Amino acid sequence: MPYVIAAPCVADYSCVEVCPVNCIAPGPADPGFAKAEQLYINPALCIHCEACVEACPVNAIFETKALPEPWKAYAQINADYFTQAAR
Ligand code: SF4
Ligand code: SF4
Repeated sequence: MPYVIAAPCVADYSCVEVCPVNCIAPGPADPGFAKAEQLYINPALCIHCEACVEACPVNAIFETKALPEPWKAYAQINADYFTQAAR
């Protein structure tokens, strides 16, 4: 299952720098990069390597099935970001 970024994210981009498949957005080349309040993981591309989990200073990243109950909706929120970005 892919990893998901939840509410604690402070958009410091530590995870972007370590992701081996560049599936976390927005990145520096994407629109909205400067104003992003949180980042998102593309569930279609994530290879479940956990590198981002260790890099995150605020523990905002969870495997989908391990999302804490209050943040379950973030699985869909992360996926929707890429659906909408593709439109
Ligand atoms: S688990 Fe690995 S592939 Fe998935 S978002 Fe994190 S760093 Fe990228
Ligand atoms: S490392 Fe954590 S806080 Fe930083 S952008 Fe990624 S998810 Fe957000």
